[in-house]
Amino acid sequence: MRVRFAPSPTGYLHVGGARTALFNWLLARKHGGAFILRIEDTDRERSRPEHVEAILEGLSWLGLDWDEGPHFQGEGVGRHRDDAMALLEAGHAYRDFTPPGELDEARQSAIKAGSGSVARLPRSLAHRISAREREERAARGEPHAIRFLVPDGRTEWEDMVHGPTSFDNGEIEDLVILRSDGTPTYNLAVVSDDASMAVSHVIRGDDHISNTPKQILLYEAMSKAVPLFGHVPLILGPDGKRLSKRHGATAVEAYGAEGILPEAMVNFLALLGWSPGTDQELFTLDELMQAFSMERVLKKGSVFDTDKLHWLNGQYLSRIPAADLVESVERTARAAAGDRPLVDLSQEAAERMVEALKPRSRTLSEMADQAVVFMERDPIYEEQALQKVWYKDPEAVAERLQGIRQVVGESEWTAEALEGSLRSAAEAMGIGAGKLFQPLRLALTGRSATPGIFDVLLILGRERSMDRLDKAIPMVMERARVVSDS
Ligand code: GLU
Repeated sequence: MRVRFAPSPTGYLHVGGARTALFNWLLARKHGGAFILRIEDTDRERSRPEHVEAILEGLSWLGLDWDEGPHFQGEGVGRHRDDAMALLEAGHAYRDFTPPGELDEARQSAIKAGSGSVARLPRSLAHRISAREREERAARGEPHAIRFLVPDGRTEWEDMVHGPTSFDNGEIEDLVILRSDGTPTYNLAVVSDDASMAVSHVIRGDDHISNTPKQILLYEAMSKAVPLFGHVPLILGPDGKRLSKRHGATAVEAYGAEGILPEAMVNFLALLGWSPGTDQELFTLDELMQAFSMERVLKKGSVFDTDKLHWLNGQYLSRIPAADLVESVERTARAAAGDRPLVDLSQEAAERMVEALKPRSRTLSEMADQAVVFMERDPIYEEQALQKVWYKDPEAVAERLQGIRQVVGESEWTAEALEGSLRSAAEAMGIGAGKLFQPLRLALTGRSATPGIFDVLLILGRERSMDRLDKAIPMVMERARVVSDS
C-alpha cells in the first residue's frame, strides 16, 4: 500500500486536510505501507512558502510522520508535459486553438438555447480546424491548449467509502491538460504524479469526487494501473454547512495554541467521519491503527463538535502525570498574565496545583487561567464575588476572617490539621463550615470558584496564605466601617 497526502500550500493545515492526512497515515501504518507527502504547488499565485511550513508544522504537531517527501509538484512539470505530449501522440488528446472567450460565448448561447449537454462543445469548436492545419499552426509556435479526448461510455469504480460509483462520460468535458502557457492542469499533474509515485490508494475529500472519473480515464489512456479511490465526506459546522473560517479556527495548530493536546486532536479527527462500530471513544494511536478501516468511514458529512473535542481533551489531560504538565501550564499562565510578573511556585506546590486543576479543566488554557490565581503576587478580586461573599455582611465576615487567621496561624500545615482547626472554629462560632470556607477562599484567591479550600491553602503555603489573609482583613473591615457610617 502506498498512499499520499497532497495538500495545496494555499493556506494553513485546516481540520479537513488534517483528517485526510490522518486517514492516509493510519492506513499506511496499519498495513505497513508508505505515507507520501506531496505539496501541490502548481498554483503559483496562491502557493506560499510559509504555507508549506505551516502544513509541515501542523503534521508534525499531530505526530503524522511521512516516509517519502515532501515532494513538490512543481518539480515534475517536465514529466507532466511529456505525459501530455504522449497522450497527444497516441491520439488521446488534441490541440485546441479556440480562444477561451469564444468558447465561453458559445457555451452561454448553447445553454440559453437549451441545447442539453454542452460537454462536447470544446471538441466541436476545436475540430473546426483540420488536423493538418492544427499541426502547422503548432509548428509555427501559435499558443494553444491541449485537451484530453474523453472517450464515450461510462466510468465506474468501487469507491472505498461510497461503494460502486459511476459517471456518464458524455457529461464530462474534454479537459484541458496543458494550458496555452505550457503549464499542466491539476488533473494531469495529479495522475502523472500518483502514477510515477506508484500510489496504490487515493484517499481524499469528497470535493474531489467529480475529478475521479477524469483521472481514471487519464490513467487508462496512459496505460497506467488505476489506484483505488476513497472519498471521505465533508466536515460540517454546527449549522450543517461546510466547515469554514466562519465557524472559528480551522487551522489545526490554532487548537494547540488554545490548549488542545495533539493526542486529543488526533483522537477527535479520527472520530470525525469514521466510526469504530462500538461505543469506544478514547483511542491510543496504536488502537486507532488497529481499528481503523475505510469500510467504516461514514458516507455522510460529520459535524465538528467543539464540546466533544474539549471533553476528549479533558480526558487526555487527566491522564497525564501532573509533573509532566507543570512546565506548559506555568508557561501558558505567564503568557496569559502578560506584563504582570508571577511568582515561582515550588515544584511540590506546582504539582499539587496541577493535580487539583486537572478535574476542573478541559484544556491547558483553562488550566492556566486558574493557575494564574496561585501565581499572582496578590489576588485580583472578582467584583461579583466580593459583593456576594464579603460585602453583604462585612462586619460578620471581618470577624470570621479574623477567627480563621488565628486558628490557621496556629495550625500544623497539613490538609487534615487545617480541616480540623477550621471545622472546630466554625462549630465554636455556631456556623456551618461553608460560612468560613467561602470568605477564606475569596481572601486567598480573589475568586469564588477554586479547587478545594485545603488544596488552596497547601498550594499557597503558610506564608503566602497568611499574607493574603492579612491583606484581606483590613479590606473587609474598611467596608464594614463605611457601611456602619452611612
Ligand atoms: N491538492 C489537492 C487539494 O489540496 C488534493 C489533490 C488530491 O488529493 O488528489 O485539494
